[in-house]
Amino acid sequence: MINTNAFSQITQTLQAKNARLVAVSKFKTAEDIQALYDLGQRDFGENYVQELVAKQAELPGDIRWHFIGHLQRNKVKYIAPFVQLIQSVDSFKLLVEINREAVKHNRNIDCLLQIHVTDESNKTGMNDKDLLEFYSYYEAQKGHLKNVTIRGIMGMATFTQDQNQVRKDFRQLKTIFDAARKSYFLFDDNFDTLSMGMSGDYEPALEEGSTMVRIGSLLFGNRSPK
Ligand SMILES: *Cc1c(COP(=O)(O)O)cnc(C)c1O
Repeated sequence: MINTNAFSQITQTLQAKNARLVAVSKFKTAEDIQALYDLGQRDFGENYVQELVAKQAELPGDIRWHFIGHLQRNKVKYIAPFVQLIQSVDSFKLLVEINREAVKHNRNIDCLLQIHVTDESNKTGMNDKDLLEFYSYYEAQKGHLKNVTIRGIMGMATFTQDQNQVRKDFRQLKTIFDAARKSYFLFDDNFDTLSMGMSGDYEPALEEGSTMVRIGSLLFGNRSPK
């Protein structure tokens, strides 16, 4: 079951802000994804490689699949033939592997750098120090990474009712995004995507400068745990 009212309301809000919607469909059936597709949605996000590969095989070919979960290097090869945007790049080694697989398929794969700004230890992504290290490797070797394009940054706010904390986290992501965008020695005009905001916090995320939200439960209902 999908929530068509929530879909049209979210779509309108995003249109006004010129931001994009990724419908997060993890644990949801191909039927539910097809139902949202039939309403015009084309960007879908998945967290698990096997699940994504299975769904991609049975759903329409013009869906733009986003990978938003933790990605192991040895699994890149399964999604490289078709994935549109890998939002969870959390190491330079992973980027190198994505490029290697993209070359094999003679395609470009767009990527976002996943940034960790909260104090929560269960969240993945790069902290300040990891990011600086990433930038220095990338600057030195980007000439060899012609089949990947770093399009921006993805992150999450702390899971809390404290709106001040949530805003603070989103502002920090925006600051990192703006600084990277101005680093012309690293990135070019393709660096244009700030992916932040989920079902519970997409409105403050948009107010703080998000260009892409990732929404699951508001569209598809609650997920039963795996
Ligand atoms: C599951 C997930 C979402 C969507 O979460 P909802 O609260 O259901 O909207 C967004 N981003 C990531 C990285 C996720 O894993």
